[in-house]
Amino acid sequence: MMAERTDGSQDSWQNIFWKSHKYNERTKIKSGTYLRSFCPHCIKELTSGNKLFLELISFSGETGQLELSPYLNSFEHCTTIKLSEPGEAQDLRCPHCHKSLVVTERKCGICKSSAASFLIGSPTLKVPFFICTKIGCHWHALSPEHEKLIMIEDSDEW
Ligand SMILES: [Zn+2]
Ligand SMILES: [Zn+2]
Repeated sequence: MMAERTDGSQDSWQNIFWKSHKYNERTKIKSGTYLRSFCPHCIKELTSGNKLFLELISFSGETGQLELSPYLNSFEHCTTIKLSEPGEAQDLRCPHCHKSLVVTERKCGICKSSAASFLIGSPTLKVPFFICTKIGCHWHALSPEHEKLIMIEDSDEW
């Protein structure tokens, strides 16, 4: 396990977010940590103030805005449009470049809906973060390669 730390990424992560845990090789993102979020396509920031903004497309084709909390394990959210089925979104997109954030390689670990992905971190160091596209579902995860280094406090994955 020690050999995996030679790239220095763990130090960088600790500088940004959290303290090391001596009893655990992996660093841990604490509940309540402010996760700066970025579009994986245009790299523009999705977080602004105390909100994380995504563009929401309903199954009836309406475009609105989904506001999420950028704090880890805080699941407050609101939408600017009414959804025909509670929580069901056709697409989640970047509000800047309007490209879809929905991914095909992963599904929600709780409700098996599609997952959407964006980047979390800092302007210089980012890792993919996954959320469920069903609005209100609390599932979230890091990419498998980053889960080896980082764990998310109180996550359903753990
Ligand atoms: Zn974008
Ligand atoms: Zn889900």
